[in-house]
Amino acid sequence: MKPIRKVLKFLFLFVGLTAVTQVGGLVYLVYQPISLQIKTRFIGIRGLLLRVSAFLALYLVATLVLTPYLASKLGRVPLPRLEETRLKPANSFLWIANRNYVKPELKELLMQATGSLPQGVKIVYLDANFPFLDGFPMIGHLSHNDGEKIDLAFIYSNKSGDYLNRGKSFSGYGIVEEPISGEADQSEVCARQGFWQYSLSSDLTFYERHKDYKFDNDANKRLLVALATNAKTGKIFIEPHLESRLNLTAFSKVRFHGCHAARHDDHIHLQL
Ligand SMILES: [Zn+2]
Repeated sequence: MKPIRKVLKFLFLFVGLTAVTQVGGLVYLVYQPISLQIKTRFIGIRGLLLRVSAFLALYLVATLVLTPYLASKLGRVPLPRLEETRLKPANSFLWIANRNYVKPELKELLMQATGSLPQGVKIVYLDANFPFLDGFPMIGHLSHNDGEKIDLAFIYSNKSGDYLNRGKSFSGYGIVEEPISGEADQSEVCARQGFWQYSLSSDLTFYERHKDYKFDNDANKRLLVALATNAKTGKIFIEPHLESRLNLTAFSKVRFHGCHAARHDDHIHLQL
């Protein structure tokens, strides 16, 4: 490979891994001398497999061992990766990519809220924050940069009334709970004012897990009231039509986020 192409490939992977996982770029840097050693000893598919395995091993050690340890020393903790508590990720990518870090107060707030939910309901979290550095944003969630913000999936049940405890799409974003007749349509208002990005995530999401996911009014209300009445909560953003549908207008912490953000009828945004 020509030197310029090598540099471009390195920069592309370094920047991409940093933007998506924060620590991935650093791992890629540490991996460079190991990759060089493997390249000098092994060629072809065997060499490639060894290099990929070496990178993955380094990345997993960084993600599962070093990052949680260092982040906790610096004030952020990872949220649960598995199903051992009533707080769970919408998908494994969230913890594999280190997007599940929050300040301990936010984790405590979420754990307290699980106690107010109906039996069988879990809080399903989406993007939280990266483990390190205040001001280091996530692409698509520029405010998630200080350990104090998190997105949560709404609670859905199926036709038999069982709680599904999953996001409506794989990422948890993009499948919206549209206004029904008689409800205000904020996305329409924002679009008319020229905020083309407001509904972008739902415009770009085509895959829906199941058509029979029902937005559970009672369970969502209990979750939002538990969050809105917790002293640690600063603000909660949901779409205005859901705020009035669930009778939450009296809760001052439940707010409209403005047309410059993305619509919030596919997820809840919570911050300290
Ligand atoms: Zn958010």
